[in-house]
Amino acid sequence: MPEGKAPENKAQAERAEARKLPPPVAALERTAAPVSSLQGVGPAIARKLAPLGIRTVADLLYHFPRRYLDRSSLTAIGSVKTGEETTVLGKVCDIESRPTRGRKSVLTITIFDGTGYISGVWFNQEWHKERLREGVEAAFSGKVQYQYKRLQMVNPSYDVLGGEEGEDRAEAIHTGRIIPLYPATAGVTSASLRRLVKRALEAVSGMADPVPRSVRDKFDLTPLEKALREIHFPNDNAALKKARYRAAFDEVFMMQVGLALRKKHYEAQARGIAHDSSPGLTVDFAQSLPFEMTGAQKRSWREISADMKSATRMNRLLQGEVGSGKTVVAVLALLKAVENGYQGALMAPTEVLTQQHYERIGQMLEGLGVRVELLTSSTGRTVIDNVASGEVNIVVGTHALIQQSVSFARLGLVIIDEQHRFGLDQRVSLSEKGEDPDILHMSATPIPRTLSMTLFGDLDVSVIDELPRGRKGVITVVSDQSQRKGAFAMVGREIKAGRQAFVICPLIEESEKLDARAAADEAKRLAAEFPGYDIGLLHGQMKSDEKRKVMRQFASGRIDILISTSVVEVGVDVPNATVMIVEDADRFGLAQLHQLRGRIGRGSERGVFILFSDPSTDEARARLDAIKRYDDGFELAEADLRIRGEGSLFGNRQSGLPDLKVAKLSRNFELIRRAREEAFRLVAADPDLSKIEHVLLRWETNRRFGGSLDWLFKG
Ligand code: ADP
Ligand code: MG
Repeated sequence: MPEGKAPENKAQAERAEARKLPPPVAALERTAAPVSSLQGVGPAIARKLAPLGIRTVADLLYHFPRRYLDRSSLTAIGSVKTGEETTVLGKVCDIESRPTRGRKSVLTITIFDGTGYISGVWFNQEWHKERLREGVEAAFSGKVQYQYKRLQMVNPSYDVLGGEEGEDRAEAIHTGRIIPLYPATAGVTSASLRRLVKRALEAVSGMADPVPRSVRDKFDLTPLEKALREIHFPNDNAALKKARYRAAFDEVFMMQVGLALRKKHYEAQARGIAHDSSPGLTVDFAQSLPFEMTGAQKRSWREISADMKSATRMNRLLQGEVGSGKTVVAVLALLKAVENGYQGALMAPTEVLTQQHYERIGQMLEGLGVRVELLTSSTGRTVIDNVASGEVNIVVGTHALIQQSVSFARLGLVIIDEQHRFGLDQRVSLSEKGEDPDILHMSATPIPRTLSMTLFGDLDVSVIDELPRGRKGVITVVSDQSQRKGAFAMVGREIKAGRQAFVICPLIEESEKLDARAAADEAKRLAAEFPGYDIGLLHGQMKSDEKRKVMRQFASGRIDILISTSVVEVGVDVPNATVMIVEDADRFGLAQLHQLRGRIGRGSERGVFILFSDPSTDEARARLDAIKRYDDGFELAEADLRIRGEGSLFGNRQSGLPDLKVAKLSRNFELIRRAREEAFRLVAADPDLSKIEHVLLRWETNRRFGGSLDWLFKG
């Protein structure tokens, strides 16, 4: 059928292509062609496929079934039993829609499979008629009931297998034992998808496998073409399982190959500063510490200082829980820049956190003759001038650091705290204020290792996975309202003993005003309950110098109980605070709760973390169970991944990484780890994948990265 471009041109182009490339390679490269290059796919079909994200032949081949239906798991309608969860398969033979009282409607759709009839029943959901038309083949799953002398399922889940309008009967029939079910789509039926996929498979028939033979053997992978065929037209469960493993492997392996390429490329390009003068300030500082650094701190510092010494530009992530002692390591890095005659800058995401960093770093560096300044949006001209002239050695600031008027005399190190709170462009802007300064990212947000191996897969990572000794830890209690009295009685005991408490107020809705009001009411109530004690209030509507003042008073012990909306979330360090009460805890995410918990138990007394909540969903309940069960942030993050699923974690698309469709970060840790190891080994041996056995892998990886790796291969 002639469609779109003139067929002669297409054929010519194909012939020209075929002259250049060996046929298997040409077949592989055809996967990158638009779907309209397939025979019989014209603009009309291409338009219908576009909303599914299907633009190329590969998009079609990788549009996998959502799940499979095994015929052996089906029950003949004639032998279903009432009360049992059952899946049946039949042809729609009757559709009836009846109004009921109160302008409601009941939709009854009946299917027949040669052994009996069963009906699906829906209330006020007329739209099912659109898909379950007379004559289509459909599978219903649900609990079987017997009512009004007939078999029925109320609200069954269902899949339409074929026989839809305008479809060829012969093609709609599934002969295989395993029936693939595709995600429901408007305008493209499962049967027509199967037809298109079949055509795509024909078009790429004989294609080369982009994964090198050695890797395929090592991981016992089904050849790619065979795997794709098996996924869409399965023969048996074992082969299907292997085929899906192959698809999952490719996803994680090529993601890691892409990351390894990016990293290698960055390292090759990024000539940095060699901070290699002999240590002075860093040694003085380390000796002045009133404690011994933990093993994890020492290891992280060794890694960072080796990076800084080398002329290759540092691009490292320092990960560690709240209170694990990242600041000490960050200060060592800043001092290393200073002792080499450079300036260091630390950027933090909020004013409260910035202020606290500034004060603490100032204290730590007392007597060392290092000049530290604070730079926020309200900072005056003088500080900015002194940074520009080089008089200031270390600057701690908010995103105000990246404004145009700020310049550095000799910026040698950039530290980005809570790096995920900044966009890539902001991080780059700051580092561009120097000449290729070393970069250290810091994160207190524990994320699952599988995720950090992907999201931060092109950074070097140091992890502080050990808390300083002498911490007594925190007990977590989940309570309901009946235990309010007891909880506040404990707050009373603690403040009488000279310790301090936090009360975190609920997030009422997306309104800082309302949150502020609720917090103010709570403050009044507590002032009445604990006369003679000082109650402080902190919320998002306050000006930053007011906030600073309250924080300072709490830190110095003047305030006994601090009522706050979630602005204290990040970075407040008050070792004397031992109790924290969180109202409406089920409204907070797990990561947030863990951050909050990190605020207490930082001193030598055991902390108590009390969560009031009335969880209304299973998910909320699961979150509260998890926070009670896991103290360790990384374990908690894994639990979070299991509870929330994958989607939300990859939600932020600035990562520029390909999607994972088959592989699951929450389940495939070992696979990801091994694939990463293999990918990095391969790229270490052949940094631009130009060896003959690697060029197809390079091509395929770039295709999966949407062409964004092109620049790696120029020149
Ligand atoms: P983070 O920045 O990771 O949240 P900090 O660096 O603020 O952690 O450290 C938390 C507290 O623990 C600080 O009061 C700090 O002085 C103290 N601290 C850091 N390292 C140690 C250590 N090795 N031993 C004892 N106390 C430490
Ligand atoms: Mg360096």
